[in-house]
Amino acid sequence: MPLVDGSIVPKWSSCHNSPSSLDFIGTQLEECSTSHELCNESRHPGNPTRLLSIGSTPGHPIKLIESPKEKLKYAALSYCWGDAKFIRTLRSNLASHEKDIPPTDLPIVFLEAISLCHRFKVPFIWIDCLCIIQADKDDWEIESGRMGSYYSNAFFTISVTSSRNPDIPFLNVEKDKKYGLRLFPIRSLEGEGGDTKKKAIYAQLCPHWGSKQEGNLKTTYGYGPLTSRAWTWQESALSSRTIYFCHSQIWWECKTHFMPENRTEFAFWEETFGQSRALALAARDPFSAWVEVIAEYNLRSLTQETDRLPGISGAAERIQELMGGADYYAGIWGGEYLALGLCWYIPGGGLFGTPKDITTQRIPYIAPTWSWASVRGDIDILVRPERKRNFVSLIKVEKISTDVPYRDLNPFGQVTGGRLQVTGRVIETELKYEGKDSFPVVKHGDGGKRDIYTDCVLACDGSSARRATSLDCDGPFVCKSDFLVVGYSRDNSQDPWYTFYVLVLGSAGIEGEDKTYCRLGIGDFNDVSLDSNWATGGSEKTIVII
Ligand SMILES: [Zn+2]
Repeated sequence: MPLVDGSIVPKWSSCHNSPSSLDFIGTQLEECSTSHELCNESRHPGNPTRLLSIGSTPGHPIKLIESPKEKLKYAALSYCWGDAKFIRTLRSNLASHEKDIPPTDLPIVFLEAISLCHRFKVPFIWIDCLCIIQADKDDWEIESGRMGSYYSNAFFTISVTSSRNPDIPFLNVEKDKKYGLRLFPIRSLEGEGGDTKKKAIYAQLCPHWGSKQEGNLKTTYGYGPLTSRAWTWQESALSSRTIYFCHSQIWWECKTHFMPENRTEFAFWEETFGQSRALALAARDPFSAWVEVIAEYNLRSLTQETDRLPGISGAAERIQELMGGADYYAGIWGGEYLALGLCWYIPGGGLFGTPKDITTQRIPYIAPTWSWASVRGDIDILVRPERKRNFVSLIKVEKISTDVPYRDLNPFGQVTGGRLQVTGRVIETELKYEGKDSFPVVKHGDGGKRDIYTDCVLACDGSSARRATSLDCDGPFVCKSDFLVVGYSRDNSQDPWYTFYVLVLGSAGIEGEDKTYCRLGIGDFNDVSLDSNWATGGSEKTIVII
C-alpha cells in the first residue's frame, strides 16, 4: 500500500505566504467568482461609507476616502483588537488620514492584509478602526448597523484567526512545526485506473498529530483567538467569501463550499466556521437559523457588554429580510414568532446540564428579562424541532416595546429598556431554590413537584425571587412565584402527549406595580390532556414583563 504525501494529499506548506498557499487562495477565488452562482448574488448594493485606498501595487500611497457611488472592489479585515495600542481614526485626525497614512503607522496585521489585497488585485480595504470614527457615538451606531452589509459586499474577508492582536503577524510566519504523520482512512481507488481491488492509505504530515494534543481539535487544526470573539462571528457569517488564516493552515469559506488548504474534508469544522453557508441557506427556516445564530453568539465574549445587541445587528437585518420584515425586539422576533421566541432556555440551567454553567443577570443593562440577551450562556428553544410545527400560542400580546436610543441610526442597536404586556393564564406556585448548585423545584397547585430551567442564579428579596447580580447572593429560599402559560405543543402519536411551556416569573419589585414581573426561568410540563391544570388553572390576567 502506498503512502502518499504531497501528491494526492498535498504537502503542508511551511508558511501562509508560500507560493502553494497563495495558489490555493487564487484557485478558490477564481472558481468562486466565476462559477459559484450563490456566491455572486449581491444583496446590498453599495460601498462602506469610508474605505482605505491602497492602490493595486505595493508602494502606492494609503489614505482614507469617502466612497463614491460606483461599486468598488474591496476586501474586509476581521481581526482581534486585543490589548494592543494601534492606529485609529478619530475626529481629530480624520483630515490627516484622508491625506495620507504612512505605512510605518500601521500594525503588521494591516500591512500583511494590504499585501494580500495587492496580490489579488483588490485596490481598497475596509478596516473598522480606521474606517469608523472611533469615540464618536453617532458614527459608530450608524456604521455598526451597516457592518453586516460591508462584510457581505466585500470581494473577500481576510479573517486573521491566529493573532490575538494586530501586532502579531499572520502571513509571513513559519507555521506550527510540531508535525506528526497522520494516516487517513483507507479509500478505494475505484475509478482510478479501473482496478477496484486497489486501496490506498493517504498520509500527511500534520501539526501536532501524534503529540499529546492529539484529539484536541482546537490545537491540532489551529483555531485561534478570533474564533471566540462575538463580533467576529457576525463578520464571517455575513461575508460572501472568507479566507481564515489559522495557526496551521488556511481555510476557504464561501456560500457554496468550505475547504481547508490541505483539501481534506472535515465536517466538524462547519460547527465553528461554515456559518456563511448556514446563513445563506436560512431562507427555508429563518427562525431556526436565528436560534443557531444566537446560540453560538451568546457564548462569545465582548469587550463592551453593551455591544451585545449591536454586535449581531447585521445578522438580524439579514434574518428580518428572510422573515418578510418581522418586528424585532432586543433579539426576539415579533408577530407569529413571538410566543415561540419567548420559549428560550439555557440548557445548563436545568435537569440535563450542570447548574454551575449558569451565571448571573448581565450588568450593565443589555435587554429586558424576556430576551435571551439579558443573560449569559448557551441558548436554545425549549420546543423541540419536531414539535415546532405543532406549537400553539396561549398568550395575547397587548403591547411590546423596546427603548432603542439610537433607533434612527441602527434599529437593531443597543437597548435601554423594554416592556412586554400580555394577557394569558397566570398560575400561582411555590418556588423552592436550594442554591446555584442544585436544580430549583416548583410546587404546583396539583401537589406535584417539577423541575424548571432557571435563566441564571436566583436570589430572594423578602417574598419574591429575582435574578441574582452576583454569584454570592443565591439561595436557599422558598417563595411564591407566578407562572405564565405561553403555549403548548403535542407529539404526533395517536394519543398525543401535550407539553405546556410556562415562564417562571418573579415580581419586578416596582412599587405600585404588582403585575409587573421579571422572567426567572422556564419549564416544560407534560400532560395527556388539554384540559390539564396548566391550561385551566389559575386565572386569566394581563401582566407586564420587563
Ligand atoms: Zn463560492
